[in-house]
Amino acid sequence: MHLYIHIPFCKQACHYCDFHFSTNTTNKRAVTEAIAKEIVLRKDYLPDGDMETIYFGGGTPSLLDEAELHLLLDTIHRHFRVAPDAEITLEANPDDLNAATLAMFSNAGINRLSIGIQSFHEPHLRFMNRAHTALEAEQCVQLARQAGIDNISIDLIYAIPSANHDILLSDLAKAFTLDISHISAYCLTIEPQTAFGSWLKKKKLKPIEEEYAAQQFEILTQSLGEHGYEQYEISNFARDGHYSRHNSSYWQQHPYLGVGPSAHSYDGASREYNVSHNAKYLEAIQHDRIPATFETLTPADQTNEYLLTGLRTKWGVKLQKLETLSQGAFALQQQSELGKMARKGWIREEAGILLLTEAGKLFADRIASDLFIE
Ligand code: SF4
Repeated sequence: MHLYIHIPFCKQACHYCDFHFSTNTTNKRAVTEAIAKEIVLRKDYLPDGDMETIYFGGGTPSLLDEAELHLLLDTIHRHFRVAPDAEITLEANPDDLNAATLAMFSNAGINRLSIGIQSFHEPHLRFMNRAHTALEAEQCVQLARQAGIDNISIDLIYAIPSANHDILLSDLAKAFTLDISHISAYCLTIEPQTAFGSWLKKKKLKPIEEEYAAQQFEILTQSLGEHGYEQYEISNFARDGHYSRHNSSYWQQHPYLGVGPSAHSYDGASREYNVSHNAKYLEAIQHDRIPATFETLTPADQTNEYLLTGLRTKWGVKLQKLETLSQGAFALQQQSELGKMARKGWIREEAGILLLTEAGKLFADRIASDLFIE
């Protein structure tokens, strides 16, 4: 079993971010209490079994204080059997990480940190409106280790306009020096409802050129490969098998429960989407209502989701599973498209498993959507 907890608060809005969060933290305690109540209300959503991974995402979960974190973890332990070796991840921003907060996280049972570093280059951090400095980004990794948390992932963003390849290489060199075991690297995307989206509309920002983004991706994958990182998902790289067990479970279509404003849940046949609005969420939970919209997944939905997530991973997608999920429609609709893609050198088949080639990784999402069925 897998549990995701969305903490919908941030100190300030990063210019590229379209996740659900509020910078008004006055009702942080009340929302946390509501999330704890939602955990209880939905404790039977998943079939019986051990909780193998717990993931505090956001927003900024490192804004939780000790009482809030304990409330959530105590509630989880009261209502679920947490596996002794469960992976318990907390997303954190470097400016929240000091010796005291890290000791508090570690004592509470957090055994994996996913740190939103994004860049070690100060002008990039200012450009993206990050709340931390390059120095804090560097120091927090050492502090986390001193607090006993060794399983550390960092997020990096590439294809930042006005950047150059040397800056990307220097960001990577810093990560190598810090001996990080897991790196998630995301191409900057400009979403309409963000500050960058509005700058783009007003022509204060140039669109990110596809060719530049592709070059940065190639530099990134090559450099990470040379330093012993395995690309086990298009944007995720791990050394010595330090995969994110939680995210891998999403990519392998395992059911999970998501609680908190904007969180999603999946039970294998349907999805539920919590409202992305803190006040509405709070009001509903206080009246014992789950503020979620429900969607039954059709065979086509299930097939297309499997393609979209599975093709991005080193495990690929099983042709037999595509047939089962699509009730036989996949081969009928997409056999000739598969042949075309194989001839272009974008995909290959190995013992009944469809995998992207190195060239195909550049177009992962486009390839998946071209293979969608109706
Ligand atoms: S990137 Fe993270 S810290 Fe920045 S606004 Fe989004 S959720 Fe908050």
